[in-house]
Amino acid sequence: MLALLPSLKIMGVLCVFVLLFWLIWKIEKKFWEDQDNSDEESCSREEEQEQEEQQEQEAEEQEEKEVKVQDEQNDSESFGPNADLKELGDSLLYLVNILIDIAQNVVLDTFFPVPEQSFVVGSTYEGWGLPVGETVFRFLVSLKPRRGHIFQLELGTTRELPIQNSRIRVELKCTCGQEQDLKMLCFLRTSADELRNQQPSLLYTLCSGPYLDVEKTARWFGAVLKNAWKCVPLSAACRLNVVHFKRSCRFQLTPMIQRTFLIDVMFGVQQADTDIFLSSQESEAAYTPSTAWPQTCAVAEAKFFKHVAARAGEDSFHLGCLKACAYILVGYNFSPYELKTVLMHLLTAIPVECWSQSYFVQRMEDILHYLRCCVEEKRLDHFPIGNKAVPAEIILPWEFRVSVPPSLFQRVARDPDRHEQALYETEMLRDRFKTLLTSGK
Ligand SMILES: [Zn+2]
Repeated sequence: MLALLPSLKIMGVLCVFVLLFWLIWKIEKKFWEDQDNSDEESCSREEEQEQEEQQEQEAEEQEEKEVKVQDEQNDSESFGPNADLKELGDSLLYLVNILIDIAQNVVLDTFFPVPEQSFVVGSTYEGWGLPVGETVFRFLVSLKPRRGHIFQLELGTTRELPIQNSRIRVELKCTCGQEQDLKMLCFLRTSADELRNQQPSLLYTLCSGPYLDVEKTARWFGAVLKNAWKCVPLSAACRLNVVHFKRSCRFQLTPMIQRTFLIDVMFGVQQADTDIFLSSQESEAAYTPSTAWPQTCAVAEAKFFKHVAARAGEDSFHLGCLKACAYILVGYNFSPYELKTVLMHLLTAIPVECWSQSYFVQRMEDILHYLRCCVEEKRLDHFPIGNKAVPAEIILPWEFRVSVPPSLFQRVARDPDRHEQALYETEMLRDRFKTLLTSGK
């Protein structure tokens, strides 16, 4: 395949290989550092035990109030940011972008969509995901139409945002007069006989009717990235398995060490130049048609957290609060996303300097109090919609700025039993947090 590429592209691909070597070396190094640390930990266990005994003795001599404050500090430390996960997420983002670069060359002469920029989204990278089971990094890959094609975004008929039943209509564009530049015949004004010598248009590959099909796109993308991986000499040393889900794909990357990294990829088409995408994620409906591309705020929300991080400084503990929320939520009906929404509202209401670790207990109480008020009022506003407090650098479609925010608590509002249960659970969560502070778990 390389022999077919022009020399410049070969140089580009070789550069990519060198970078990939560096990346894998970095991941391997990280693993061995972790191993070394754990070895050191076991060697110095006796020493640590002695230290612990000494500390316990000292602690007993302290006043009760001081002990309590110290305990609270220790509890909150376990919810601190995980720099390793962020670094690993950055490395995997780099890897995904390298594979996308290669994939772009592999499908250069076809009319499949162009995979472009990818974004890391989700709790693992943001640093508040709980270490339950395997660590999964989630990415959203932006797709653009290739030459001769246009994506028309049909935003669905429901009035409520984010719109769940949006579709992407694929249209052909006249390319007459550009045959040499674009290296293609015009799909619209060329005879069917002549078009037989050209790759089929997207309408004949990944569409159902005139609409881009999520499931076909997911299968295609998995296959393309797997092929891109085969072009990399390092694929002899590392394994990349593709698991095809209905509307996304999962890549299992296993380097020489037997430790697997999971990369979930969903796709999205950007809505104009905004941070809102029509994505391959499941809609909230019981059945999601294969041509439905629900609007997602995942990229806008990730950008909001970056905005906060840039202003808050290194000692900000807002993600630690969210991680503590996710921890105490286990077993209750509230979702981590609902608590994340509460946090986002509070981050725009409370000055960033008041989110350091020393304010951990106060901020957690604020979050639980805000949640309680929302349940009492039977509404929790969707954060990015109809919210003047969203920073201007988050680029939203006009209708997101002017709409009345939809509520995440619609089911609570409709169902009295559910409302009563939610009220009860807000009390339970307060007790759960007190237990966390006093017992540390
Ligand atoms: Zn034409």
